[in-house]
Amino acid sequence: MEMDKEYERKCFELAYLIFPDVNETVDDLEIRYPARNLKEGAKVVRIGPSPTGMMHTGTLFQAMVNRKLASQSEGVFYVRVEDTDQKREVEGAVQEIIDGLEHFDLMPDEGVIGKDKEKGDYGPYTQSKRREIYRICAKHLIEIGRAYPCFCTPEMLQKTHDQQVANKIIPGYYGVYAKCRNRSIDEAIERVKAGEKFILRFRSNGSHLNKIAFVDDARGKIEMADNDEDIVLIKSDGLPTYHFAHVCDDHFMHTTHVVRAEEWLPSVPKHLQLFEAMGFEAPHYIHTPTIMIKDGDSKRKLSKRKDKVAAVSYFISAGYPVEGLNDYLMTILNSDFEMWKSQNKDKSYKDFTFKLDKMSSAGSLLDIPKLNDLSKEAIARMTGDEVLKCVLEWSKEFNKDFYDLLNKDLKYAREVFGLERDNATKIRKDIFKWEDVEPTFRYFFDENYKNELETEGYIIKTLTEEKATLTPEVMVKALEAYKTAYNEADDKDTWFARMKEVAEGLNFCTNMKEYKANPDAYVGSIADFSSIVRMAVTNRKNTPDIYSIMHLLGKDRTIARMEDTIEKLK
Ligand code: GLU
Repeated sequence: MEMDKEYERKCFELAYLIFPDVNETVDDLEIRYPARNLKEGAKVVRIGPSPTGMMHTGTLFQAMVNRKLASQSEGVFYVRVEDTDQKREVEGAVQEIIDGLEHFDLMPDEGVIGKDKEKGDYGPYTQSKRREIYRICAKHLIEIGRAYPCFCTPEMLQKTHDQQVANKIIPGYYGVYAKCRNRSIDEAIERVKAGEKFILRFRSNGSHLNKIAFVDDARGKIEMADNDEDIVLIKSDGLPTYHFAHVCDDHFMHTTHVVRAEEWLPSVPKHLQLFEAMGFEAPHYIHTPTIMIKDGDSKRKLSKRKDKVAAVSYFISAGYPVEGLNDYLMTILNSDFEMWKSQNKDKSYKDFTFKLDKMSSAGSLLDIPKLNDLSKEAIARMTGDEVLKCVLEWSKEFNKDFYDLLNKDLKYAREVFGLERDNATKIRKDIFKWEDVEPTFRYFFDENYKNELETEGYIIKTLTEEKATLTPEVMVKALEAYKTAYNEADDKDTWFARMKEVAEGLNFCTNMKEYKANPDAYVGSIADFSSIVRMAVTNRKNTPDIYSIMHLLGKDRTIARMEDTIEKLK
């Protein structure tokens, strides 16, 4: 639309009246933020978290997509803090996000890297510090007749909205309902001059009767009704709306691919209009599926209030291994990751090529048993040293007593965590997160173990319920005979032979086949006998190999535990 000269002059007058102190232009910004010097095909991506609460698990998911896209293309992943909703801002939220990214090895290359810390040439990377940029862009839109002041009060807008709803009309500020759009520019100038309060709105040129099409890089071609709403650009507090900030920021930061939650998908027509009005090229869009959780038989969105797994901090405090969680994120992001991983066991998710077209667009289900499984696998791939390092790091923050305990004898701790791990033919997979380490291995630490026996009782007592022949008297006899016979110097074969000998003497059958054929002829089997010993020494039904455990505990502690159990059984 060719503007007539007089109207054009008035638009400039209005723009000047509203932004008398804005001297820079969009062209100046283009010079300040020149194209990035990256190789062909490099993707510039970002996450735009709003610091309005705890770090959401979805942010981690987004960060993974971004990190992969940037790393794979030698591009840039940056963090932009979207703090335009200052009423909802929560102290410490930015730091929590950065810490979360750092913890899971998903740090950005650029942008906000800590509270009040930024890195890169395209900043500031915090929207509240970019007011001037939005003002320059808004001024430009007024000058070209694509933005106007709206004097409608919130009450008036509410009334229009209610009427629209009552009359079953699509609610919104558009067409005849866009009162201020339809005022003359002279009136707008007068009212601004008179000091009336206003916000700035975009003058949309679309009609919802028209369909537009665009491509989402993960979902393909999408058709939607065009936008006809005159959306707010600058709010009454002088800060931009998400829509306007998205367009200005992603343009001047040279984002090539906008990866964001699918809740933004319906807003794409608005954004495309804004890009066009500003004369900017629109980025590629990738809308990621919402993370869902199983609730009974159905699925629902993660709830910040109800689901502890909605917060990234849960995974950190529970001590999920970084590799396990990242493998899991990759599994929900790309359906072929699992297959790849099973064929590339020694490789990291970092070596996997993430593909946008393999990304599911249906809601991704946060499947905790699956996460636990992958975490178990990730821990099983670690050496004892690595496990110790991770347990120390985790416990330093989340279980200080255990941390101190481990530090009293690191060599011993190292041996405990190396059990059935280092040089083992079959690795024991009993841990999937670091918080489970202390309860699982508690029997190696006398004080904690004593406490457990006092509070939780002696598990050996339940054996009688499982097998009536294993009475307390039988168990006492077994332990008394075994503790006398136990010789720490035995190698494993001799040790087992000796155990069998003692068991046989007390009428335990050492041949499982024979036992199964004629169970009533015996008190129990050799498996029962070793269970008695295992439970007396560890208070557990399942442990790594009991021979190694006794060795690690040493003879005195082993015997003392048997004696203590005997007392309890009497
Ligand atoms: N601040 C927006 C949000 O938290 C970011 C969306 C985007 O990545 O563009 O939803």
